[in-house]
Amino acid sequence: MAGGLYLVLVIFFGLGTGMVAKIKGSSFLLWFLIGAVLPGLGLIAAILYRYETAELRRQCPQCGRVVMLHDAICTRCGHELEFPETAIEPVDPTLRAGRSATV
Ligand SMILES: [Zn+2]
Repeated sequence: MAGGLYLVLVIFFGLGTGMVAKIKGSSFLLWFLIGAVLPGLGLIAAILYRYETAELRRQCPQCGRVVMLHDAICTRCGHELEFPETAIEPVDPTLRAGRSATV
């Protein structure tokens, strides 16, 4: 049954892609769907994708969304952000080299 085999393949790639994304600090569900819709290609994209966890971040004072340090405007609520005194460190400690938590 070719249809059943394809379904197994889709789930397999979906799970693999989601797990790669999860390890890198992104959304499992989002990348599960990408991996399922684009078997193989989604997995490669997940591996190559530059995750935001490598960047310094800060929290929007208005809505609480964590945005990139260099963002001038909140991507969720549009609140204008002043340059912060402190930043949230990258999640992955191996990517912290040469960076400082304070600006
Ligand atoms: Zn906001």
